[in-house]
Amino acid sequence: MVFESQHPLVKHKLTLMRDRETKPKKFRQLIREISLLLCYEATLDLITKPLAVESPMGLAEGRELVDKVGLVPILRAGLGMVEGVWEMMPGAEVWHIGLYRDEQTLKPVSYYNKLPTMPTVQVCLVLDPMLATGGSAVATVDLLKKWGAQRIKFVGILAAPEGIARLEAAHPDVPIHIAHIDSHLNEIGYIVPGLGDAGDRQFGTG
Ligand code: URA
Repeated sequence: MVFESQHPLVKHKLTLMRDRETKPKKFRQLIREISLLLCYEATLDLITKPLAVESPMGLAEGRELVDKVGLVPILRAGLGMVEGVWEMMPGAEVWHIGLYRDEQTLKPVSYYNKLPTMPTVQVCLVLDPMLATGGSAVATVDLLKKWGAQRIKFVGILAAPEGIARLEAAHPDVPIHIAHIDSHLNEIGYIVPGLGDAGDRQFGTG
């Protein structure tokens, strides 16, 4: 299932991110803000249980989160998304997964993975701003499922139809939360019109 945000703030911030004149400092701020908004939408179904607290005026029936959330940024472009989400969920665990594409096989190979042997969270949010070919997203979800993760969601900023089709075909149970579905991938795997290289634009490289 694909959830394309209809939030006006998301649309506004995405437009600023796409602008080639937007500098890395501003780009990093926007990626933090838009990620917070997208994760707000992606966490609508987290489970809570009743919790009563004493306010200065009396007893209030409230709710507390039951689900423990893990953030799984795909290196390196996913890193900028963590900070925004963390502001909203400071108790979330962050698990880094590093993948590179083997030049011969063109398949993603994991070069960094420090997941503990048993899952420590109920919900994993895979963070990658660009769902392009879908190769890294599928490989990351494969790893998380092998780890034993029960509920996994993908949160990104832009997606190409090709990436969505690949992730949905491999993992139909993983909802995809994004700001916008773009037109297509170009011949070198970039999303068009996209925003360029999300890693370079954050880190001022390239
Ligand atoms: N990764 C990026 O950073 N940009 C794209 O357009 C596709 C993949």
